[in-house]
Amino acid sequence: MPATASPLPLDALALPSPAAGWWRARLTLGLGMLAIALCTGWQYWQARRAVDDRVQVAQATRLTMQALRETQRIGSVTTGLLRGLEPGAVDASGGRNETAAASRQTLQQALDALAAQALGPAVSTRQAREAGASRAGQAWQQWHGESAVLVRRTASLIDALRVPRAEYLRESARPVVAQAERAAEQAGVLLGLLQDDADASLDRQAHAMRWGSGLTLAVLVLSLVVVVPVLRRLQTQARRTARRVAESERLALVAECTNNTVLITDQERRIAWANAAFSRASGYALEDVIGRRPREFLLEQAADPLTMAALHDALSHGRAAQATMLHRTRTGEPYWVAFDMQPLRNVGGELTGFISVGTVITEQIAQRTRAAAVMAALPTAVVVHGPGGDVREANPAAAALLGVRVGDRADALLQRAPVAEDAQALAAADLPVQRCLSQGRGEHGRVLAVAAADGEGGQRWLLANVELLVDALGRLDGAVACYVDITERRRLLEQMHDAAVRDPLTRLGNRQVVLERVQRAIEHRRANPAYGFAVLFMDVDRFKQVNDTLGHAAGDDLLCQVAGRIEETVRPGDAVARVDSQIPTAARLGGDEFVIVLEGVRQPEEASTVAERLLQALSRPYRLGAQTVHVSVSIGIVTVEHAAEDAGAVLRDCDTAMYEAKRAGRGCSVVFDASMRERLRAAVEMEGDLRVALARSELDVAYQPVVDLVSRRLLGVEALARWRHPVRGEVPPLEFIALAEECGLIDDLGAQILGKACAQFALWREHFGKHAPALLAVNLSRAQLRQPGLVPEVQAALQASGMRPEQLQLEVTESFAAQDVQVQATLRALKGAGVRLALDDFGTGYSSLACLHQLPVDTVKIDRSFVAHAHEVEYHRVLISATIRVARALGMATVAEGIETPAQADLMVELECDRGQGWLFGRPLRAEAFARWLEESRVDTVV
Ligand code: C2E
Ligand code: CA
Ligand code: CA
Repeated sequence: MPATASPLPLDALALPSPAAGWWRARLTLGLGMLAIALCTGWQYWQARRAVDDRVQVAQATRLTMQALRETQRIGSVTTGLLRGLEPGAVDASGGRNETAAASRQTLQQALDALAAQALGPAVSTRQAREAGASRAGQAWQQWHGESAVLVRRTASLIDALRVPRAEYLRESARPVVAQAERAAEQAGVLLGLLQDDADASLDRQAHAMRWGSGLTLAVLVLSLVVVVPVLRRLQTQARRTARRVAESERLALVAECTNNTVLITDQERRIAWANAAFSRASGYALEDVIGRRPREFLLEQAADPLTMAALHDALSHGRAAQATMLHRTRTGEPYWVAFDMQPLRNVGGELTGFISVGTVITEQIAQRTRAAAVMAALPTAVVVHGPGGDVREANPAAAALLGVRVGDRADALLQRAPVAEDAQALAAADLPVQRCLSQGRGEHGRVLAVAAADGEGGQRWLLANVELLVDALGRLDGAVACYVDITERRRLLEQMHDAAVRDPLTRLGNRQVVLERVQRAIEHRRANPAYGFAVLFMDVDRFKQVNDTLGHAAGDDLLCQVAGRIEETVRPGDAVARVDSQIPTAARLGGDEFVIVLEGVRQPEEASTVAERLLQALSRPYRLGAQTVHVSVSIGIVTVEHAAEDAGAVLRDCDTAMYEAKRAGRGCSVVFDASMRERLRAAVEMEGDLRVALARSELDVAYQPVVDLVSRRLLGVEALARWRHPVRGEVPPLEFIALAEECGLIDDLGAQILGKACAQFALWREHFGKHAPALLAVNLSRAQLRQPGLVPEVQAALQASGMRPEQLQLEVTESFAAQDVQVQATLRALKGAGVRLALDDFGTGYSSLACLHQLPVDTVKIDRSFVAHAHEVEYHRVLISATIRVARALGMATVAEGIETPAQADLMVELECDRGQGWLFGRPLRAEAFARWLEESRVDTVV
């Protein structure tokens, strides 16, 4: 990514330029060098001049010396010549000739040398040029002049020598000698001056050397003085620049690699540079944005005008500015950027532009929005407090539940007055936020009671969790408190607790309570043998019938009334003391079973007394809507003497005793003794045996004739189930039929009896013809009437035996069946199938004449108990008579059951009953016995 990015313009960061100092140093150095070069050149020139001078002087000196020698030779030769001319000289004439010739030759040689040297071309042009300018020059001129004179005179002498005349010679020789002396003298002067010239030249050279060195040194010193500090400054500046460049490169790298957007603007506030992050965020390439204004990338219409104005103001004054604004991408997508604009200034402090560093916070803003939505949606009240406890934030749930608002103080919650009775105590204890803030520790699961925010004086229970807030440095910055309204939950908990110990229908205690009570009593007894208790177990007799016939609502009503009567009867203060005033000692175990725990019973008889009172109270008629119902209860009692070691066993024993009471005819109480456990075991065994018997189809059928009361002719037979137990022998049908009903075997039993009876009936019809019974009555139990498959089953039995439906009479004992929709539907379906129906045991239980018309029955069978006592009890007679009349009015036949004596038969005839059944006419007999009976009696049958 940085590879594609353009470099950050470092000049924009206002680095100081090193050029000025650099040029100054360079100029200084240049000038210094030039000065030194000039100086050296001048020195060289001076040295060259000095050398030239010395060469000239040396040459001139050499020439002068040679000329001086020649001059001196001329002088000495001439002097010698003169001496030869002196009078007295020997051989004046002959010798003179020879001497003159030699002198002439010597002089000629010297003259030639002198002319060549002193007057020849060797004489320097410069010396000639400078002749007259310097003393040496002048001396040279003079010497030259003297030499020229000497040359002329010498030449004259030489000529004179050709004619050697003494006089002439003398005259020619003397000027030569004088001239030679003068020339020699002049040459001496010239040599001295030339020496001076050489010395002067040396002096000049030394002088020039001194000056040159001094000047060079001065230039060098000057250069050093100027250049060194400049260089030093340059060095520091270069180092600083290098550092800044490195730093700037790092900055550039940061600007390129960061996820923050970076924009640099120039004085005109146009974009001079943008980093890759900006390109990524906006979708614009760098070249697209350069020269444009940053505001072009804003979504200005969405910006807050106040923020825009503040930003503009800050920028126009060159001040830093921060803002969060919506930007738009190249494709027009909006995105949020929080940016910080800082002014850029050059070294002179002039504003060169701005650098804007931004963070794309679209996701953060979305998160914030989501968080706000969550806060708003939370059913939990959330309150954010500052370090001083003031409310900084409160969600709508907090406003609704607590009535707190932003700006409230921490204790505002409590200002809304806790409404518990001990409001003061609550107020003192309930300052979780402030306490957490002062203790520096959060708190969870605190339960508070506050006045409801609706101001209606209600009380709300709150579960508070307080968590401390810290800032980025870990310093305490407030607290957040969450309040959950647990008022409902508490109410539910109370209800649940109540439900855990109370029966929801009757509000009595439940099984749990009973077990606890009994267990406590057992343990109390163990610790204190004088202590007595008793447990009474009650079952409402035939409750199921009420439930099935009158409906569950009536059943519930009955149970509530029973519970109420139990509570009234078992009053505290009696022999029965309640241990806990909250939970009653009377309890319902479920269904129609009630238990009473009598604690502190002194005598076992006390339990029986209470049971007696209960039996009486509960046997009074009950009003269930429009109906009046008589029910009794059977009570099993366990006294402390026979109490088992655990509560469960005690209840089981109570149950056993209660079953004994049922067996004993219901509506009574039985005190448990150990032998009952044995009987219970036997009952359980019986159940198993019955199952086996049913599985093996071992149940048998007895048939009892039903006769016309007037003619005594056989009209039909009633099929009665018989079970011969392998050990116990014949088991009474009431016993095993109740057992079958209890353990769900009744459908199977009913089907077997129906099938066998129908088959037998068909056989008789075939065998005995018109002497065979014309009608077969088969009993149906309550449970069978609710069995959905009953009607098809009956039809199948008819079909299998080939019986006509009207030959079958099904007997039901329900009179309240009229009110049971399901039973009614079954009865109608049976009727629809063509089967006859009889109402059995009429007059017992819940039978009611008023309901008779609602039932689709053909026959009413008057219960044996009425027939048996009809002679003695007027009421029974009246009832039988009324029943017969009503039945006749409804087109139903009547059968009097259990006729044992002729008197009873007569009475029934008198009361106009149609038919009769009983030992008087015939006992129930097994098929073969009945067949024999048929053969014997040969009573004509009526179809
Ligand atoms: P129930 O339907 O009323 O049957 C008549 C009962 O009265 C029979 O008793 C019968 O033996 C008895 N009985 C008839 N005449 C006299 C008499 O003159 N004096 C006396 N003391 N008793 C007489 P059982 O056979 O013991 O049956 C009792 C009950 O068992 C029946 O009463 C009936 O409700 C039920 N039951 C019998 N067999 C069946 C069956 O197959 N299915 C169903 N659901 N119930 C049956
Ligand atoms: Ca019957
Ligand atoms: Ca009956």
